[in-house]
Amino acid sequence: MNIHITADGKKLVTVIPGDGVGPECVDSAIKIIEATGAPIAWEVRHAGERVFKQGIASGVPQETIDSISKTRVVLKGPLGTPVGYGEKSANVTLRKLFETFGNIRPVRELPGVPTPYSGRKLDLVVVRENVEDLYAGIEHMQTPGVAQCLKLISRKGCEKVVRLAFEFARAEGRTKVHCATKSNIMKMTEGLLKRTFEDISKEYPDIEANHIIIDNCAHQLVKKPEQFDVIVTTNMNGDIMSDLTSALVGGLGFAPSANIGSEVAIFEAVHGSAPKYAGKNNINPTAVILSAVMMLRHLGEFDAAATIENAVMVTWEEGKFRTRDVVGDELACTTTEYTDAVISNFGKSSAAYSIRDVKPITLPTFSAERDIVKVSSRRVAGVDIFVETALGPIDLGTTIERLTAGSAATLKMISNRGTRVYPPTGTITDCIDQYRCRFMKAEGNLTDAEILDLMSKIATEIQWAHIEKLQEFDGAAGWTKAQGED
Ligand code: NAP
Repeated sequence: MNIHITADGKKLVTVIPGDGVGPECVDSAIKIIEATGAPIAWEVRHAGERVFKQGIASGVPQETIDSISKTRVVLKGPLGTPVGYGEKSANVTLRKLFETFGNIRPVRELPGVPTPYSGRKLDLVVVRENVEDLYAGIEHMQTPGVAQCLKLISRKGCEKVVRLAFEFARAEGRTKVHCATKSNIMKMTEGLLKRTFEDISKEYPDIEANHIIIDNCAHQLVKKPEQFDVIVTTNMNGDIMSDLTSALVGGLGFAPSANIGSEVAIFEAVHGSAPKYAGKNNINPTAVILSAVMMLRHLGEFDAAATIENAVMVTWEEGKFRTRDVVGDELACTTTEYTDAVISNFGKSSAAYSIRDVKPITLPTFSAERDIVKVSSRRVAGVDIFVETALGPIDLGTTIERLTAGSAATLKMISNRGTRVYPPTGTITDCIDQYRCRFMKAEGNLTDAEILDLMSKIATEIQWAHIEKLQEFDGAAGWTKAQGED
């Protein structure tokens, strides 16, 4: 990764102060880095709420994109996103625009931060896939009352994040990687991560590789978290699991992260803009400070990183300056006092916490080819046509059979939210107004013309909303069955 060196020999970093508590946390981290004397220069740019208010719908203006394209390293405060309506998240936009495909989220027991797990020496890392999955945000209303979100997972995306997890484990001298998925239910999407993990783990015989179902992973993390070292998982699972793991060591105030791509790295806290604490000078800035420590290591500034990490631990161990989230309002110091305390502890180290011997991550390189998975044969065996109708399943089934009689493919079944309802199963599915009609062709390829013929016949009486081809790749079905489908 090429970083930008200024005329006076400093490493240039784009700083995005962010929204809510972001500026206070980022100011604290910058003050601490500057106190180490590390040769870092800052280019301040903006994203998020203040940019939305300027009418820039992406939340990320061109000058911010230009700065990151130049510096390739970002220290970022959290950005607020409207919930349930309006603009896309500027965070996710930044991660995706710069293809930061993996998000490394470490948590470790901190001396002087009491939790129900204190003394168990927790030290684990969630590596979250960062650009795919439900976070691609490809959503549609299929009917006025039915929403869908497309969960896109690629072999290439899986390979990138799995290799990052193993390379990160090696760089930190870690010995175990768990892959956590919901592949028992989502066999194609979550299953692709599991299969990719099983393939790639063979290239890392020095590291123990295990698969775990994500819900059990959540259970095990609460019950016996010390069994984990590195956990690699899909985007949505990783989002949730990393908030959980932060709570094991004291909460979101202590959880840093690094968004890693082949070209750009963005360092930020796991937490959001916590608007209720904005401007009160009482927020815990440790998560952003520890994100800055990760950034310094990324920039090769290992001594400054160690000075800050040690000083943070000593500050908590001494217990003279602790923030509101740990000791409550009565005993809390201000963010400014905490920041100064960390600086005053430069040069000291904690007896209870030793810094890892971290080596730079060897970032894997990836093929630029778009179609990295090649097959020697494929067949369109059928098509799923999603329709909107207020008819019940039997009326719909008989209507569709009448309309499509004599077509190239025949109706195999109809499902409602994934459960077969036609031919009837005699059960009690509470149908809504969106159905999937599955047509199969017994032999040969179902052509586009034959699919269009089916759709135009259906459209004479029933409104269709969406279609999906059912393809076999090298003889293997590229679709899953409905619940109750034979
Ligand atoms: P949040 O900002 O992370 O805050 C949730 C709670 O976590 C806070 O109320 C507070 O808990 C605790 N917390 C967060 N940061 C803390 C810190 N530095 N020190 C101590 N405690 C801290 O989550 P949210 O309220 O769900 O989201 C607010 C906004 O942030 C939303 O617009 C969301 O989209 C955005 N967001 C941005 C990012 C990002 O930029 N990467 C990530 C997540 C969310 P208590 O109430 O118990 O004190």
